[in-house]
Amino acid sequence: MVVLVKPSPQLSSKAMDGNQNKVEAKVLLLGAENVGKSALTVRFITKRFIGEYGDIESIYSHIDKVDGREISLRIWDSLYPQSCETTESISDKQLQWADGVILVYSICDRSSFEVVQQQVQLIRQTRKLSASAPIIIVGNKRDLQHQRTVSSEEGRLFALSSDCGFFEISAAETYHDVLLVFHEILDLIKESRALKRGMAGIKGIVKSVSAVFGKKRE
Ligand code: GDP
Ligand code: MG
Repeated sequence: MVVLVKPSPQLSSKAMDGNQNKVEAKVLLLGAENVGKSALTVRFITKRFIGEYGDIESIYSHIDKVDGREISLRIWDSLYPQSCETTESISDKQLQWADGVILVYSICDRSSFEVVQQQVQLIRQTRKLSASAPIIIVGNKRDLQHQRTVSSEEGRLFALSSDCGFFEISAAETYHDVLLVFHEILDLIKESRALKRGMAGIKGIVKSVSAVFGKKRE
């Protein structure tokens, strides 16, 4: 089962795709170590769960088709630095690069949930991520119910209160859940771009109208 809370898209948005038929999006995966960031990424790209992923940081390129539209996706599977404060765990470069962020914790590792909470706070404070870029929080390892230390309710409430999407999934058990997470972030990125386009259109009309009336008054 997947638990989902949809965040409300905001108005000011980042860059957008010009071509109506092709969508390009850059998604950053954050969260503590060992929570399943690489498992999620590899599962999405290959449909497989391979178990061990090593401590590597990679940016993957993936082409997909959703609702007849070609999606060109880049996924930055980050590495949580070994010895640092959470405040230094995300670089400005990562946030400026991303069109959307997936923050992962493990439902059986309370400290990883705390890392996600701190990272959301950090992202909001530093404002390096575009204000309209969607954030989705993912509680992974749902198959390990007997080891659970973070309740679904707690995860969902935190996501709601910080205007983030929320899913509880098991990358190990279901490909479909992982697919839902990535499709949701893509939808939210597209929504925020459409809103930005709408706002730019309105601003353009207001500008033209004021130019016409401005001239008439002269
Ligand atoms: P990362 O450090 O966040 O990239 O975490 P990894 O993707 O390397 O996963 C860490 C460990 O958790 C690996 O041993 C994975 O096999 C395991 N793992 C990842 N996702 C799941 C899951 O949904 N359920 C279970 N039981 N184990 C998982
Ligand atoms: Mg990893």
